[in-house]
Amino acid sequence: MKIVLLGPPGAGKGTQAQRLVEKHGLIQLSTGDMLRAAVAAETPVGLQAKAVMDTGGLVSDEIVIGIVSDRIDEPDCANGFILDGFPRTVAQAEALDRLLGEKGTSLDAVIEVVVDEGILVSRMENRVKETLAAGGQVRKDDNSEAFRTRLEAYRTQTAPLSDFYAKLGRLKTVDGMQSIDDVGRQMDAIITQVVAA
Ligand code: ADP
Repeated sequence: MKIVLLGPPGAGKGTQAQRLVEKHGLIQLSTGDMLRAAVAAETPVGLQAKAVMDTGGLVSDEIVIGIVSDRIDEPDCANGFILDGFPRTVAQAEALDRLLGEKGTSLDAVIEVVVDEGILVSRMENRVKETLAAGGQVRKDDNSEAFRTRLEAYRTQTAPLSDFYAKLGRLKTVDGMQSIDDVGRQMDAIITQVVAA
């Protein structure tokens, strides 16, 4: 099963992806996590990506497509994966179709987590508080200025993907304003439908 999760920063994609990993044994591929690992390891990609990530902008399509292309070729992805944070631009979505097509496969579902934009900033602020309370390290881009840039990047570059996938008849949506469990149940229902189709 190959799934794409769409939705703005703070929509809960990561939380839901984690749940799908536990429940359905899928692998989560978060380009944000992969890029943060590259930054921490100071790889050439990490060194290139760091500044733009810190300010909340998007890393270049070329870099991100390269990372995803390498990752989905690894053996643990053979049975499927959940992409969280990729694609984020139409060019990335087209590249993904091409990459999967070359392997003779395609996406099974694109699920958008739909939320009211007004709650996103407070969700980010809560995440910061919880992380600090747990003694963890707060993400460099979890501050109001970078968050505003991330939302703007989402609006202008990523939101058009809903239309892109809807036109292809592939878009499913869940209501991300509900509880984590309720959102999860909506996801499960979609997955059951996809498996049965
Ligand atoms: P969010 O919580 O905002 O969804 P992520 O953890 O997915 O954040 O990503 C953090 C940052 O990593 C983004 O703001 C961006 O700089 C970079 N990034 C992650 N995925 C992509 C992508 N597909 N294309 C371009 N940049 C990306």
